[in-house]
Amino acid sequence: DRLSDLIAAKRPSISFEFFPPKTDEAEATLWQSIRRLEPLNPTFVSVTYGAGGSSRDRTTRVTQRIAQDTTLTPMAHLTCVGASLSDLRGVIADYAAAGVRNVLVVRGDPAGGPRAEWVQHPGGPRYAVELVSLVRELGNFSVGVAAFPDVHPASSDLDADARVLAMKAEAGAQFAITQMFFRPEAYFELVDRAAALGCTIPIIPGVMPVTNVKQVERIAELTGVSLPPGVVDRLHAVAGEPAAVRQVGVGIATELSRALLDGGAPGLHFITMNRSTATLEVAEALGLTTARV
Ligand code: FAD
Repeated sequence: DRLSDLIAAKRPSISFEFFPPKTDEAEATLWQSIRRLEPLNPTFVSVTYGAGGSSRDRTTRVTQRIAQDTTLTPMAHLTCVGASLSDLRGVIADYAAAGVRNVLVVRGDPAGGPRAEWVQHPGGPRYAVELVSLVRELGNFSVGVAAFPDVHPASSDLDADARVLAMKAEAGAQFAITQMFFRPEAYFELVDRAAALGCTIPIIPGVMPVTNVKQVERIAELTGVSLPPGVVDRLHAVAGEPAAVRQVGVGIATELSRALLDGGAPGLHFITMNRSTATLEVAEALGLTTARV
């Protein structure tokens, strides 16, 4: 089944994002999280993709193991960073050989971070939209792409972001997942802007239950995600008390998720940071831990 059909069939769809661990200890934590989240019956789980060959191999290995050893449907991320078209064809072939049929196609960021100047590989794609076309050409893959409720750091404005999303859908992307954000209006405005351009693919909001104040502030700074004063104040009031931060973070993510689902979002994509407790607590608060069809 195509992932976009599965997303449309589940009301709401839930999914989890992981990153490939670098050490044995981090790998153990990841697998413990996967096992704890598996009973929630997510539509899919995704594994991010970093720069460099070793990171790329880890993405393939973790994704393949999810396909083989769990009941979960994996999706591997793929970026254009430092890669020629023939490199990318090779990675896509590795994904296919590993049984991975679902790919989240993103451009990736330069080594200096999201605000550094992007330099494409001389023989590679400049924008994610070109990689969408390549993956669709190369086989029967379900393809998702990134979307940005708060403006992308290199983009002129929100209208430009919506036009890029519409181009990716025209190139064959079947669904989108958003960058994390904290204002539900930003998500609904993106959905409306895309729809006005005829782009009606499911746009799944990315939700990060905050467990670490410094970490979310750093990500927000790098990615241009807006942290509303209310969110910052609530987190700072308990900063230094990890359990209290998690509790507040879970509360914020639960309120956001509820507003999104009430407003018609097709599902929730949880950015787990390879942990399970906060995500489980949000899912429980939303009543999403019992079987969904
Ligand atoms: P693009 O769609 O190529 O857009 C990049 C910039 O170029 C934007 O400013 C856009 O407006 C502009 N643009 C695009 N197309 C055109 C065009 N045709 N003409 C003019 N301007 C254009 N990064 C990783 O390294 N690994 C990951 O696994 C990863 N996973 C992610 C998952 C999600 C859900 C999200 C939201 C992001 C993820 N990222 C990941 C980060 C992502 O790579 C960065 O946000 C990157 O800066 C943008 O990626 P993109 O696919 O949107 O790029």
